[in-house]
Amino acid sequence: MALIVQKFGGTSVGSPEKIKAVAQRVIRSHRQGNRMVVVLSAMSGETDRLTGLAHGVQRMPDLREMDMLLATGEQVTVALFAMAVKEAGCDAISLLGDQVAIHTDNMHTKARIESIDEALINKYLDQGKIVTIAGFQGVTDRGDITTLGRGGSDTTAVALAAAMKADACEIFTDVEGVYTTDPNICSKARKIDRISYDEMLELASLGAKVLDIRSVGIAKRYSVPVHVRSTFSENIGTWVVEEDKIMESMLVSGITYSKNEARITIKKVPDQPGIAAKIFLPISDAGILVDMIIQNTHDGKLTDMTFTVLRRDYDRAMEILKKVAEEIGAEAVTGDKDIAKVSIVGVGMRNQPGIASTMFQILAKEGVNMMMVSTSEIKVSCIIAEKYTELAVRALHDAFALDKENMPLEETV
Ligand code: ADP
Ligand code: ASP
Ligand code: MG
Repeated sequence: MALIVQKFGGTSVGSPEKIKAVAQRVIRSHRQGNRMVVVLSAMSGETDRLTGLAHGVQRMPDLREMDMLLATGEQVTVALFAMAVKEAGCDAISLLGDQVAIHTDNMHTKARIESIDEALINKYLDQGKIVTIAGFQGVTDRGDITTLGRGGSDTTAVALAAAMKADACEIFTDVEGVYTTDPNICSKARKIDRISYDEMLELASLGAKVLDIRSVGIAKRYSVPVHVRSTFSENIGTWVVEEDKIMESMLVSGITYSKNEARITIKKVPDQPGIAAKIFLPISDAGILVDMIIQNTHDGKLTDMTFTVLRRDYDRAMEILKKVAEEIGAEAVTGDKDIAKVSIVGVGMRNQPGIASTMFQILAKEGVNMMMVSTSEIKVSCIIAEKYTELAVRALHDAFALDKENMPLEETV
């Protein structure tokens, strides 16, 4: 008997009708003799709706209470799903993160999974039940409900597959797999059949939200092959697996974008040793991640420090930095939420000079101004105005000919 973990995202369970259709699909696998663990997201739009409610009540919502609120979205879908399975004549049980239990640290709204108890799940599987588990949530040692951060149901599914040594982990979503770029904004996007964990990690970290980055990290660490595929078709999707010899190593394998970031500048900071630490220490103490950092010196004595943080952390970061600015005698703190990060990604870039300059030329030709740039061996990212995101993605996808099966590296270098 195979153990299969299947995860269905928000659009896949967006209405009672869709939940019934998902139940039918799961029941089919169950009747083929498989032990089925099903992880569900909240209905599409629900997590956003709950977040909106919170902000309408408290300016900067208390993070513990936020988790209490957000976790309700997934409670609704697992309960409805279990009912739909029973209505169709099979047996099912729904479990919340704390019932399982999925233990996490206490970083509310972005908690990390520390361990999973499989005993209860196995008990119900042994009884022939389809076990459905609320994605995106867990519980701390003190019994507080936590959530894993947006898109976290993927992480729940892969972590369960790893802990239970499942034979397969299938991530069902509203597109046919992982594409060269977001198929919803670029009609020429091409589906990738197989992608390595490392390349998927890079795409996910730069905004390809089709898989949550932490789920890819767990999949890599525990060698869980992940199949990303569509809820609405039977087609084979994309396999995320270890790199193998036959896998194409593309020059540029994907274009990503992220509208989740915001830019902050601290103006006219004294240009002295220790100042950067004074700025970034309170930020990291508050659990806020900083991404790109740029320092511009004015005249050797003063400098502007510009960096990006996640948009969800923007208000808290601004509040902290206004205090810091006063302490260190900076002139002002300014910010901009209407930015996007557009990136080109590919392991082949390691060996090929000139990719970044090609990217800059393409953006210039489209009249898109770059505010910040960062590069690594296998990616180049640019911060641009949010309104140019789609234009930039399409232009880059065209220029690097990603709609074509582009040439494997061996033939290009
Ligand atoms: P789910 O609710 O199923 O978790 P998500 O909305 O989190 O689905 O992720 C699927 C979405 O990811 C797609 O609808 C698509 O718009 C977006 N996406 C972004 N980049 C990519 C990519 N490279 N390949 C496929 N989908 C992508
Ligand atoms: N419901 C959560 C979200 O919208 C988790 C998920 O869907 O993966 O981010
Ligand atoms: Mg998702």
